[in-house]
Amino acid sequence: MKYKQVAIIGLGRFGMSLLTELSRMGCDVLAIDNDVNNVNEVAEIATHTIQADSMDEQVLKSLGIRNFDIVIVAIGENVQASILTTIILKELGVKKIVAKAKNALHGKVLEKVGADCVVFPERDMAIKLAKTILSHHILDHIELSPQYSIEELLAPKIFINKSIEEIDVRKKMKVSILAIKRGDEVIVVLNAREVIKAGDILVALGKNEDLQRLDELES
Ligand code: ATP
Repeated sequence: MKYKQVAIIGLGRFGMSLLTELSRMGCDVLAIDNDVNNVNEVAEIATHTIQADSMDEQVLKSLGIRNFDIVIVAIGENVQASILTTIILKELGVKKIVAKAKNALHGKVLEKVGADCVVFPERDMAIKLAKTILSHHILDHIELSPQYSIEELLAPKIFINKSIEEIDVRKKMKVSILAIKRGDEVIVVLNAREVIKAGDILVALGKNEDLQRLDELES
């Protein structure tokens, strides 16, 4: 586990979902919100909770916020609070700040004031969903850069009962197969002689247009 001590500021839907998942994965999570109802709601899940205004520098300092491995600013609607909180965290020397942005401008400001990573959950989820809805085989999509992605897709019909060597997508389609998911099994160290079976899910890396060509093959 890379990050153990995490603080989440803002317990809206995003902050709460993140808190639940990080706690489930074994992180110690400090949950902060200025609404006491939200704080009480997560008392059972978070390691520590505090009802506080994150724009209060003294409160954050007294919590020893700079000692956390990562601090997530999950405030969206209140742009002023999101930006001021990020500035204070930066000034207090927090090692890694992840901030949620509502839109591109908000994201730009957060980057400028020192957020190490800016996330756009609504936009990113919508893009992902659109790609999944429109695709033939794509089950999941991770964007590595605007040009490159990793996709999980159902093995196309013409690949079935052929080995990785035979389909040779690296040469023919400029796509690398990173892994094969077969039922509960995940084959990560791929042998060129590994034969693709019906129902296999291929984890493929490549340029978006090359992945699209792969996706257009008949299932
Ligand atoms: P989501 O979409 O995740 O539900 P949102 O983008 O609508 O959330 P907000 O509702 O603005 O985001 O904020 C999320 C949480 O942050 C709320 O529970 C709110 O009480 C809390 N919050 C807002 N401002 C502050 C602040 N200054 N200090 C602490 N918590 C705050």
